[in-house]
Amino acid sequence: MQAEVISIGDELTSGQRLDTNSQWLSERLGELGVRVLYHSTVADDLDANVRVFQTAAERADVIVATGGLGPTADDLTRDAIAAMAGRPLVLNQEVLEYIRALFARFGRDMPEKNQVQALFPEGSRVIPNPNGTAPGIDMDIARTGRGPSRIFALPGVPAEMMEMWRATVEPAIAALVGASRVIRHRRIKCFGVGESHLEQMLPDIIRRGRDPSVGITVSGAVITLRITAAGASPDDCLAAMAPTIATIHECLGDIVYGEEEDELEHAVHRLLAEKQLTLASAEWGTGGLIAQELSSLDQPQQRFLGGVVVTSAAAIESALGVPPHLLEQHG
Ligand code: AMP
Ligand code: MG
Repeated sequence: MQAEVISIGDELTSGQRLDTNSQWLSERLGELGVRVLYHSTVADDLDANVRVFQTAAERADVIVATGGLGPTADDLTRDAIAAMAGRPLVLNQEVLEYIRALFARFGRDMPEKNQVQALFPEGSRVIPNPNGTAPGIDMDIARTGRGPSRIFALPGVPAEMMEMWRATVEPAIAALVGASRVIRHRRIKCFGVGESHLEQMLPDIIRRGRDPSVGITVSGAVITLRITAAGASPDDCLAAMAPTIATIHECLGDIVYGEEEDELEHAVHRLLAEKQLTLASAEWGTGGLIAQELSSLDQPQQRFLGGVVVTSAAAIESALGVPPHLLEQHG
């Protein structure tokens, strides 16, 4: 089963906002064992939306779209799905009452234009939205000679989208997949050598087609090894990854400083706690970056005592009493 993720909105195609929904949804689909083959991003334009949905239904079995379900004139997702399916929009009385009740709860009358949020393409199902006025649309699009493509259209607001995914869309897709395969990732964080040097230190585990697969990404001076395994259960995936992770630790030693969300400052903090040490910083040429990272920790006062930021070697001498020749010697 192959999926396409569609993000809808002028704010995305104009570059004003980064499309984080596609990233999040693709990770979730991957965890269900569904491969995402395409990401499409499209402006608030009806023709363009119809074309994107038509193309997606041809090439993907599952489509998850976000955005364009609001009440305003630029919210065109429901019209686009109805048009591409060749079905009229029909009023869902139950949803209309729900939206009215939502406004009533805040002591307000429902504005007339919110009524469009109760319109659904004929033959579609409602995806309830517990946090907002925009319900989602779940619709099968018939295809000749094969099974239908299934569209799940969700609002763009990330918090609403995520909750609706978890409550309704994820179980529906898991049922489609038969829940027979899941995918899990682990990330190993490394620091201290360059990317190609690090690759040389490892046996041939980054090759294409290996299972579990190992990918390598670099951000700043941190290198992340991302291990991916598919299996019948999350535990199976973790067991399949264990030997690869052990090999990485064996080959890289203390170049590995952490895993998953660990940043360098977490590793520094852990080491300080382990050794019962405190740290102060004097920085030149960084604008205070080190102090900023270390004080962004949860309990910085425990280990990081503070720092000074100076703009010249001479200032270091006057602030700290360190003579310039020591700086030249030791950096
Ligand atoms: P909409 O459902 O199109 O009315 O979108 C509501 C809001 O959600 C937008 O104004 C954006 O701030 C946000 N949003 C929409 N699509 C995305 C996306 N793909 N990634 C991140 N935020 C989004
Ligand atoms: Mg929008």
